[in-house]
Amino acid sequence: MKSRLNTNNTYSLFSIIKSGFKKNSVLDISMSNKTPKKNYDVIVIGGGGHGMATAYYLAKNHGITNIAVVEKGLIGRGNTGRNTQVVRSNYLWTESSLLYEHSLKLWNNLSQDLNFNVMYTKRGVFSLAHSYQEARDVARRVTANKLNGIDSLYLTPKEIKEYMPIINISPTARYPIFGASLQKRGGTVHHDAVAWGFARRLNQIGIDIVQNCEVRNLIIKNNIVNGISTDKGDIFANKIAVAVAGSSTRFAEMGNFKLPIESHPLQAWVSEPIKPILNPVVMSNAVHAYVSQAEKGELVIGAGIDKYIGYSQRGSFNVIENATSAIIELFPAFSKVKLLRTWAGLVDVSPDACPIIGNTPVKNLYINCGWGTGGFKATPGSGYVFAHTIANDKPHILNEAFSLDRFASGKLIDEHGAAGVAH
Ligand SMILES: Cc1cc2nc3c(=O)[nH]c(=O)nc-3n(C[C@H](O)[C@H](O)[C@H](O)COP(=O)(O)OP(=O)(O)OC[C@H]3O[C@@H](n4cnc5c(N)ncnc54)[C@H](O)[C@@H]3O)c2cc1C
Repeated sequence: MKSRLNTNNTYSLFSIIKSGFKKNSVLDISMSNKTPKKNYDVIVIGGGGHGMATAYYLAKNHGITNIAVVEKGLIGRGNTGRNTQVVRSNYLWTESSLLYEHSLKLWNNLSQDLNFNVMYTKRGVFSLAHSYQEARDVARRVTANKLNGIDSLYLTPKEIKEYMPIINISPTARYPIFGASLQKRGGTVHHDAVAWGFARRLNQIGIDIVQNCEVRNLIIKNNIVNGISTDKGDIFANKIAVAVAGSSTRFAEMGNFKLPIESHPLQAWVSEPIKPILNPVVMSNAVHAYVSQAEKGELVIGAGIDKYIGYSQRGSFNVIENATSAIIELFPAFSKVKLLRTWAGLVDVSPDACPIIGNTPVKNLYINCGWGTGGFKATPGSGYVFAHTIANDKPHILNEAFSLDRFASGKLIDEHGAAGVAH
């Protein structure tokens, strides 16, 4: 029997729309445009992975379902749909390791939880060291990881070559390889599947996803927030949670407080598809570049942030040029591969390369930001602890250390080394 979709796509799509969306199909999310109610228990601002995961765990763990996720564009079109999908938990300090490890464990069962395949692939993540000092730093991190119960290995250049024969380990290379760490449970998760999986689940639970609805202001009286002003009118709620990544400082301004966040463009690019040749993810802090191969065969390459601050989602060509030439020196075989397309997101960078998750100086207003270049891997873990914080008006044990007041108390968690190229 021929399927409707195979016979004639235009007709099929038309007939699906005409006959109404099949409940819980993927289409019903992309085409739904919910009119918001006047009141909710919780409004989550930002329809990225973090916002949707927060709504999901508010329902799953705390029984709160009268929620709206308000998104100015379409869900998953921010950093969630623009990242390079790397997940791992091998951070240096205990606070970060435990938070990212919690997330990695949630990725493990997320496909079953959401009944949607998020394609977690444990292909392994390498962090290369290109000098004696870097090798010592990487080895120190491997030891710290092991002390925190996180799988981590230190490999010699010869051992690295066994994993990926195409890597150049010549000692005379411009970036000679001294060693590397490997987290075997690290790998990739499909970013669009995460957006779709959470969105479909929220639809099933009855949580409103309000797309194309820009939040323009917070409604605050006597330092207590109780609503938002949007281009679809005012909406009220007992609690408001902000998960807007690169737009976070705009919301702090609306709440009349300051965030130590800078917004920067971050770029990535892909090549034409080639046959499978590189299984793991390879990152290099010194080179400031990283590469993996997508299931479709494209090389996915990324770099550090563009140095200037701003709210645009466009980067500069020199970043692409520098990182690509470094990758070609590490993998000379890639020199003939053509680049296909580039893009950029807008990331929220904090001074200690760690997130801010918690209460704000405004009562009932909560913030989740500062994930910078590496927050995709934290999506379920971040939603889990942020939901706990919102439901209980106090942090979960895993995000206690990530409060905004650490910038006043000085209890910073410097993850610049492990965040590195940042993924
Ligand atoms: C090129 C690139 C590569 C990356 N690679 C990795 C990686 O490999 N691994 C990793 O762990 N992380 C990576 N990251 C970082 C990661 O993507 C982010 O940290 C993470 O996705 C942030 O998720 P989010 O849900 O907080 O933000 P977003 O997905 O950006 O969601 C925020 C949402 O808020 C909405 N919003 C903003 N303002 C308003 C408003 N006024 N009203 C309503 N809605 C609003 C936006 O439209 C957006 O959809 C990368 C980022 C980029 C850009």
